[in-house]
Amino acid sequence: MLDLNGTGLVMLEEDKELISMVHDFVLKEVRPRAAEHDRSGELDWESYNKAFEMGLICADLPAEYGGQGMSAVTSAWIREELMYGDAGFGLTCGTNNLGIKPVMLAGTEEQKRWCVEVLTSDKPGRDPRWPQKRSGFAAFALTEPDAGSDAGACRTTAVKTADGSEYILNGRKCFITNACYADFMCVVASIDRSLGYKGLTMFLVDAHLPGVSIGKHEDKMGIRQSATCDVIFEDVHIPASALVGKEGEGFKIAMKTLEHGRASIGAGCVGIMRAALEEAARYAQVRKTMGKPIWKNQGISFKLANMQIDIETSRAIGMKVAALVDAGSREAAELGPIAKCYCTDALNRVVTEAVQILGGYGYMRDYPVEKLMRDAKIFQIFEGTNEVQRMIIGNGVVAKYKVKE
Ligand SMILES: Cc1cc2nc3c(=O)[nH]c(=O)nc-3n(C[C@H](O)[C@H](O)[C@H](O)COP(=O)(O)OP(=O)(O)OC[C@H]3O[C@@H](n4cnc5c(N)ncnc54)[C@H](O)[C@@H]3O)c2cc1C
Repeated sequence: MLDLNGTGLVMLEEDKELISMVHDFVLKEVRPRAAEHDRSGELDWESYNKAFEMGLICADLPAEYGGQGMSAVTSAWIREELMYGDAGFGLTCGTNNLGIKPVMLAGTEEQKRWCVEVLTSDKPGRDPRWPQKRSGFAAFALTEPDAGSDAGACRTTAVKTADGSEYILNGRKCFITNACYADFMCVVASIDRSLGYKGLTMFLVDAHLPGVSIGKHEDKMGIRQSATCDVIFEDVHIPASALVGKEGEGFKIAMKTLEHGRASIGAGCVGIMRAALEEAARYAQVRKTMGKPIWKNQGISFKLANMQIDIETSRAIGMKVAALVDAGSREAAELGPIAKCYCTDALNRVVTEAVQILGGYGYMRDYPVEKLMRDAKIFQIFEGTNEVQRMIIGNGVVAKYKVKE
């Protein structure tokens, strides 16, 4: 018989209780305050602290370094529920994974232990009254004003001192999630701009060092609980031991980091899609036109059906990537961009249909689907735009079916 256990296609028995607990938590805590935090653009700290206490932040950090050692599949189920609660909240909870991943992939033992300790130890800094103290957050800083999809155009520089003991970091990063809370950031900088991609190097930067400052806080369309800001580095002295991997490996490590991030992107999208379908399905039963509930029109019930199809197919492909990451398979790198495009496009179809099913009411702030549509758009843009993902997929297709000249 086919054994689907551990593949993510069926939930493991031992995960069911945990996921049901997370579901109850988001229903009781996250959702009731989601609209208020969407308006204010502030993180729901009360829920964040509870999520931390429940062990839902960075649950997949390896046990050998003091983490909980959950699989990518279990973490993906958690992500689905958190995003079902609120996309900006779920993103805030998940971004530490992106911030620490370069170190977990290519860092030294010492770097790994330090980072995990920072992210897992309970500190009062998590209280909003002390937002700038060490607070158990990490950020991943690749993007710059002139270097988004084109990471090779990175202008941030890291110049080694004559005695080799330090690098001096200068530059500006933009759109960095959680940067304003971060204790440390994995920063991509160039050691020699003439080398392009080959000069890019990854550094583990203590965000409390002199010369590191936070610039503009973005006022965004959606995921408004998630903080997005500029980070400025002005003559920041970082020790040579802050190098992650080797000089020139920054691009490779950054891409591998994003590849691992794809283990949860499908799950995040599914969580938001579920929230949208739930609203639309309920509305379609109570809204009557021409004497009957709107869902009794095939035009509407087919939309609900297509939304459910998008959810199931996205979960299947997203969980397959998570299972491949758990298995350490290289196939995760091939499937990741496909899952990213498929799930984020499906998400945008589903939220758009949810608004359509609610008609004029769907367009109003009083109904949650309007927010879901705003939250959904970013998923096609960040962590590598869908156009860039399609370039990668297209290159792979041509390489696979190469015609000999
Ligand atoms: C809310 C938010 C959070 C973010 N969080 C982070 C973070 O934590 N860390 C981080 O480092 N970055 C982060 N980013 C940055 C994000 O990853 C970039 O915005 C994204 O990679 C696109 O870069 P860009 O905005 O410079 O767009 P550009 O690269 O300028 O692209 C503009 C448009 O052109 C298209 N395009 C570009 N090149 C090509 C090409 N060769 N072929 C076809 N189409 C192309 C793109 O797909 C896009 O549609 C975040 C962004 C946002 C908005």
